[in-house]
This record gives sequence, structure tokens and C-alpha cells, in this order.
Amino acid sequence: MISIAENLEIIKKQISLVAKGRPIQLVGVTKHQPAEKVKEAIEAGLTALAVNYAQEGDELRLSIDNPSVQWHFIGHIQSRKVKYLTDYFCIQSIDRLEIAEDLNSRLEKVEKAIYALIEVNIGREPQKSGVLPERLSEFLDRASALPNLKVIGLMAMPPMLHPVEDRRIYFKEMFQLYQKFQPQYHFEVLSMGTSDDYLLAIQEGATMVRLGTCLFGKRSF
Ligand SMILES: *Cc1c(COP(=O)(O)O)cnc(C)c1O
Repeated sequence: MISIAENLEIIKKQISLVAKGRPIQLVGVTKHQPAEKVKEAIEAGLTALAVNYAQEGDELRLSIDNPSVQWHFIGHIQSRKVKYLTDYFCIQSIDRLEIAEDLNSRLEKVEKAIYALIEVNIGREPQKSGVLPERLSEFLDRASALPNLKVIGLMAMPPMLHPVEDRRIYFKEMFQLYQKFQPQYHFEVLSMGTSDDYLLAIQEGATMVRLGTCLFGKRSF
């Protein structure tokens, strides 16, 4: 069986082939993966990890206990779980102002600032979270005024269309939004692309990809 270190090597090579010299951040998505695999990835040089669930995330962060890892939160945020989010490096799934404001005031109390991305519902899918594209301008205006949340970019999950090539249009639309707001908000991160479609996302301008199964293997629980 191919090891996680080998997977990581292959993925990095493929990324560098399509990135044309642009630096791409690789975030390992730990959802339903055993801690041993996550540790293996860290030993192989992975420095950014993402979790989807506050509780699972707390357990994993405790068991990994490695201060050099940057932890990202990418799951849907429930209002009663905001209190668990102040120790992350970056929250990628900000999509409601109440959540952003609550998180900001909790961060204020502990005198901390963390990075944040705004999640965009680029496919306008009713079952998905994310700010609608036409609401993004107003949302950014208000979220970026929160001093303890440093909004540095956008995140999206496109509709899971097949063939995967059909998702390109959504990556393009995300890149257009990213470019539109970049000068005003000094964006640095466009987080899009998962195991199925990260090369496509990078071709269309992603600066960060979030990889679960292609790095760690099938989710095991
Ligand atoms: C699960 C998940 C990923 C990773 O998906 P894979 O297909 O396993 O690479 C990325 N982003 C989010 C928000 C996810 O929930």
C-alpha cells in the first residue's frame, strides 16, 4: 500500500506542474481519519490541517499536540459551537454575521486575533452554507470591520458535478469574486479544490487546496 508520505510527494509534484510557479498552500482534511494517519502526514512534512467538527477537532488537536501545525476549521459553524473556535489558526467557513460577531467578541476577551475566510455558496445550492455572491460585498464590508477576525480571503465548495470539468465554471466565478475584492480587502487566500478537482481549481486561480481522501485514503469512520 502506498504511504501517506508517497501520496504527499505525488500530490506536490502534480500541484507544481499546474501552478506555474505560484505558491499553493496544501491543507490536509482530517475528517473521519484516524490520528495515526494525521501524524504520519505531519511527519512527512504537512504543516496545515483542517477539521470539520468542533469536538472531533479538539480531540485531534490535543492528541497531535504539535505547536508547529496550523489548524484550520472548515465545517459548518453552529452558534453554540463558536466558543470552541478561538484556538484555530484560520476559520474558513464564516458565512453568517452573527457567527463572525460572536467569534470576534470571544477573541477580544482572550486578546487574540485569528485569520478568517468567507465561505461563498458559489453554486447557490439551497442545502449548502455560504454567502450568496450578490451578498458578498455587504458581508465583507461588515465582517472586515471586526478587529479580531482578520479576513484574508474566500473559500468555496462548488457543486459536486460530474464530469468534474463541469465545475470549472464555478472556480472561474470564484476567482472573479476574489479578484474583484482583493484590492479593497487585501486578500491573500482563495481556498478551493478538493481531492477530485484540486488541479482544476489551481488552474483557475486557487491559492489553497483542501485535500482529504487523496492524501489520507478513504474516510474510515
Ligand atoms: C471533506 C472536505 C474536504 C476534503 O474533501 P476530499 O474529497 O476528501 O478531498 C474539503 N473541504 C471541505 C469543506 C470538506 O468538508
